Amino acid sequence: MSESAPQNFIRALIQEDLAADKHGGKVVTRFPPEPNGYLHIGHAKSICLNFGIARDIPGAVCHLRFDDTNPLTEDTEYVSSIQEDVRWLGFEWADKLFYASDYFERIYQFAEELISQGKAYVCSLTEAQVKEYRGSITEPGRPSPDRDRPVAENLDLFRRMRAGEFKDGELVLRAKIDLGAANMKLRDPAIYRIRHTHHHRTLDKWCIYPLYDFTHCLSDSLEHITHSLCTLEFESARALYDWVLDTLDVPSRPHQFEFAKLGLNYTVLSKRNLRAMVTEGIVLGWDDPRMPTLSGLRRRGYTPSAIRSFCERIGVAKSNSTAELSLLEHCVREDLSPEVPRVLAVLEPLLVTITNYPEGKTEQLTASSFPEDVPKTGSRQLPFSRQLYIDGDDFREDPPQKYHRLAPGREVRLRHAYVIRCDEVKKDATGRVVELLCHYDPDTLQGPPADGRKIPGTIHWVSQAHALPAEVRLYERLFSVEDPTNGDFRDYLNSDSLLVRRGYVEPSVAALPSDTRYQFERLGFFWQDPIDSKPGALVFNRVVSLKDSWSKIVESQTQGQSGVQALHQERRRARDEQKSLQAALQKAKPVELDEAARRYHEAQGLPVAQAVTLSGNMALAAFFDTASAGASGDALLRGALANWVVTEVARELKEGTLKFNPKQLLSLVEMTLAEKITARAAKDVFAEMARSGEAPEAVVSRLGLEQVSDSATLQPIVDEVLAALPDKVAAYRSGNQNLLGLFMGQVMKRAQGADPKVLGQLLKKSLEG
Ligand code: ATP
Ligand code: MG
Repeated sequence: MSESAPQNFIRALIQEDLAADKHGGKVVTRFPPEPNGYLHIGHAKSICLNFGIARDIPGAVCHLRFDDTNPLTEDTEYVSSIQEDVRWLGFEWADKLFYASDYFERIYQFAEELISQGKAYVCSLTEAQVKEYRGSITEPGRPSPDRDRPVAENLDLFRRMRAGEFKDGELVLRAKIDLGAANMKLRDPAIYRIRHTHHHRTLDKWCIYPLYDFTHCLSDSLEHITHSLCTLEFESARALYDWVLDTLDVPSRPHQFEFAKLGLNYTVLSKRNLRAMVTEGIVLGWDDPRMPTLSGLRRRGYTPSAIRSFCERIGVAKSNSTAELSLLEHCVREDLSPEVPRVLAVLEPLLVTITNYPEGKTEQLTASSFPEDVPKTGSRQLPFSRQLYIDGDDFREDPPQKYHRLAPGREVRLRHAYVIRCDEVKKDATGRVVELLCHYDPDTLQGPPADGRKIPGTIHWVSQAHALPAEVRLYERLFSVEDPTNGDFRDYLNSDSLLVRRGYVEPSVAALPSDTRYQFERLGFFWQDPIDSKPGALVFNRVVSLKDSWSKIVESQTQGQSGVQALHQERRRARDEQKSLQAALQKAKPVELDEAARRYHEAQGLPVAQAVTLSGNMALAAFFDTASAGASGDALLRGALANWVVTEVARELKEGTLKFNPKQLLSLVEMTLAEKITARAAKDVFAEMARSGEAPEAVVSRLGLEQVSDSATLQPIVDEVLAALPDKVAAYRSGNQNLLGLFMGQVMKRAQGADPKVLGQLLKKSLEG
């Protein structure tokens, strides 16, 4: 694995298998989409994981396999969109493209073998009866009257099912496993069903289709997959996966591992809901730029590298969590900001006439296309003339105190051009401002006024005669609440998710390739809509605004606030709105706490929800009590501990016995609060602890997760970065403090896991010294 490759528990596990020569040194993964919809950002996580492993481990391979066993919902439209999206993300499968439907004949033979072994039977119960006979968690299942049907009769019926003698739903083939199993999946699951339906590849060859659980493990084995990575909801299916492969004589023995699904706030990710949004016309298609689909993000202007970087940062853990949409937005800003040219565009044009500028004159001003704090350089010509447009938003007739833009009698700088003063405001019959008559100061071209007067604000503009008209589409979040899946997502639609403006962009845009991304100065990142934009009828999509809440979190981290605290603070802010709304809707009912809950809540200061969870679960309570005994009066530590216990420990406990002990969890939480490791790393460490019982300290050092905070290690990196950027250092020293961010970014890139606080201090000291 290359040094910069991301670390996670799956990769660690694969390294262990490689070291133990478990699959003869082979690593084969697969990405198995069902072609029943377009891929979304959640799939990107799985793609980056599976194909990323193949990219980073020498000799490893990843297959693209269409899991096409349900002819009712699948379509070739999806088969091609999925291939396009995986390629666009930057991954390649060469000749490793497969379809589960190509294995139908072999899977059928495996089913006959199961029947011959007496381990499968044809059952005539209806779907509802099968469900009823299956029992529940508290009561075992009852045998179907067909359970002991003789082998020969089963074989005969199964062959006649294939031959089309029965109607849909009349019979199913079920594996004969264990009706008393605690795992419901093992209570004689159906493995073949009748569907007289046309299939997008096998056409009308089959009228029986194998079910997912039977198909998937066999497909994996036929392809010699070594590590079959799937999301957590398949955890209980693992027993069936293993049963099938252990019962049949299969060509290879893959293993299934589960990881957490990606959830994203303000976003809906299930294909069912995304499809509903398309068919109900809530959005304009699967590739609507507001959709979380890869085709939507692509059309909006997201770059594949931004999405890959997002997938790397969220990591891969064993417990479900919700990622922040603001992180995804941050990743695309971070990707575009150092790369893309700046241009001037006006979204709500307000005419400005410069009365002392000669009529008919045009000046071609040279303007640099990149600000000082990015590594790129370049410039373009910017025409200036007597009539300009500025943004309506940059003028106020009656400005507040600290308004630094244009107002009657006030001065402002036009970006890359002159200082102007507003002399007169012209209005139409309705009182709307339609034109500003201004004066320009010819001695201020790209420089300060000679008399030393201060010009506090700079605004953007375009020359009326030269600017290109454009439709500009401003996208916002599709949903107005953090969790639109809590209830009916239709209730939470943001009515302002698409705003259309008729504006103007500077003419240099016409000379750039049509797929260029730009920053419209002061407005955001944009590019031309790849479908609707035409020369002469330009349409721009806003990829992302400039406002960056994620950076604020990181910033406060470097300013001494703990990252965890900052993150929580940010989340609390985001939730406030939703909460006050809910509170208004339903007057909070007082919660009755029993004695134990009261003790946790009142004496120990835990939130009510945690107190109730703990008091209602003896095993959890005991675990928490033992762990918190070592937390000696530290309320912050106790709170964090309780959080881990009611979420992660509770989850592990549900699965079986715990491999780790309360003391180990306490150490993990202490390390996190002391910022020895990041909150993200803590999740990976926990996953390892839960898997193997290894001490958290040992996991941290084995995976190299420790935050580096000693100056001796970091100083040389700081020196190296500063030495490579002499111009920027000089600019910083002559007063451009904004460059600190650029330096931080460069150093962080080189020093993975570095403590940003310490880095910030070292940088400042080196820059000042
Ligand atoms: P959805 O739940 O959105 O309908 P799905 O799981 O039915 O998706 P598939 O086409 O079966 O969609 O998924 C292909 C692969 O992508 C599977 O391995 C699945 O586990 C993975 N995957 C799907 N959604 C996510 C997600 N949100 N995060 C991570 N992996 C995902
Ligand atoms: Mg699925």
